[in-house]
Amino acid sequence: MIRDLHEKLINQEITSEKLTEEYFAKIEEKDPEIQAYLTLNNEFARDLARAVDKKIRNGEEIDLLAGIPCSVKDVICTEGIRTTAGSKILENYVPPYDATVVKKIKENDAVILGKTNCDEFAMGASGENSAFQTTKNPHDLSRVPGGSSSGSAASVVADTSVYSLASDTGGSIRQPASLCGAVGLKLTYGMVSRYGLIAMASSFDQIGPITKTVEDAAIVLSRIAGKDRKDSTSMPTADKNYENLLGGANISGLKIGVPKEYFAGKGLDPRVRELIEKAIQKYKNLGAEIIDISLPSGEYALATYYVIVPSEVSSNMARFDGIRFGQSVGAESEKTGADYTLGDIYFKTRSKYLGKEVKRRIMLGTYALSAGYYDQYYLKAQKVRALIKKEFEEAFKKVDLILSPTSPTPAFKIGEKSEDPLEMYLADIYTVPANIAGLPAISIPCGTIEEGGKNLPVGVQMMGKWFDEETILNAAYIFEQSA
Ligand code: GLN
Repeated sequence: MIRDLHEKLINQEITSEKLTEEYFAKIEEKDPEIQAYLTLNNEFARDLARAVDKKIRNGEEIDLLAGIPCSVKDVICTEGIRTTAGSKILENYVPPYDATVVKKIKENDAVILGKTNCDEFAMGASGENSAFQTTKNPHDLSRVPGGSSSGSAASVVADTSVYSLASDTGGSIRQPASLCGAVGLKLTYGMVSRYGLIAMASSFDQIGPITKTVEDAAIVLSRIAGKDRKDSTSMPTADKNYENLLGGANISGLKIGVPKEYFAGKGLDPRVRELIEKAIQKYKNLGAEIIDISLPSGEYALATYYVIVPSEVSSNMARFDGIRFGQSVGAESEKTGADYTLGDIYFKTRSKYLGKEVKRRIMLGTYALSAGYYDQYYLKAQKVRALIKKEFEEAFKKVDLILSPTSPTPAFKIGEKSEDPLEMYLADIYTVPANIAGLPAISIPCGTIEEGGKNLPVGVQMMGKWFDEETILNAAYIFEQSA
């Protein structure tokens, strides 16, 4: 998709300005229903597009991303463009700087159309925790698109953006990609700078692309990866052109591990199971070697995640105190004349402007970190985290990648799980292990389930070795090409 558009641009069959206009027109047509966007970049997008057109006319070489319209999840800071994180507390926040990933795609002349909706501070699995609107699944408007990157996935599939930059803390790239029928790539922890990503759980968060094709994911990855002085956890990565490595590898002899525990639970929809088994069979036919493996501690992954993540959340959310960022009852009190103490400002601002799920996690995390419970919960969870990592290490001595479902079910109905947080947390059962261990993982479409006259997409997940994005991209690419 990106490459085709790029060819059209450099052959001057289309201008970036025209392309950008087309996408804005599509947004105008479709977004009132789908509601993927929170803010449109009306101000800068066209100027950027025209600048690319000028370069092309002058015969300058342009990057693959140049002039191509994309969207950015609203937890990623964009200079001069409102960034809300899906929260009332940042409703009017306009960052004074770009996140490193944004800076990088802008250096390659990407055209950012706007900011996409998400669960508040990326906490959720359906998009319904956004304080502003509920994005709809483009395949069935009565269903969720998944989350937390609800708007990113929906915009890519509705083709109101070519690709999107999103974030994944426990599945927020892969699960909505699976539910919407897109490609979602969660990168190795450290592969991409988190500078300018509004933090949810810092030791889990990672930015990555949601795209229409595997090649597009590779193209975006090549341009956002690498060490950043502003994020000490980012790693120097070999300057690879991942898109040029696709298709080169031979799948015959590739060792694909299938963890038996991932298929044992009652929560796995039998129709999803069937499609995943078909995907396994397809890899077999392509010459891969399928190896049964065991990841016994996986059983505790969700529990571990929902202790450590809220702990980090409670710490990260402390910065939203009504003083430094965003909305504040303190500012309002100047008008109303209310006499607030500092404590009142903290308490009243957070009570008023943070949503239910965010508050739930702050409370859970504060509890898990408090004296007396710290050892019992937080420390214990960290030990299990180490164990889970170790099991992956062992598994990857035997296999090149690990295949599983991405989500236990296809897209569910809006409102179906929103009153039951535990039920919602189960949506992440297959995706959180990769974040716990920091592994790269991709979700690609592997079929659809017919329900109520609609075709609901299902994704298959592949997890790879640390910093071995190349192998999962290649395996995904071959799968996609043979479809
Ligand atoms: N659904 C998961 C959660 O609520 C994952 C969120 C994410 O990856 N940002 O924690």
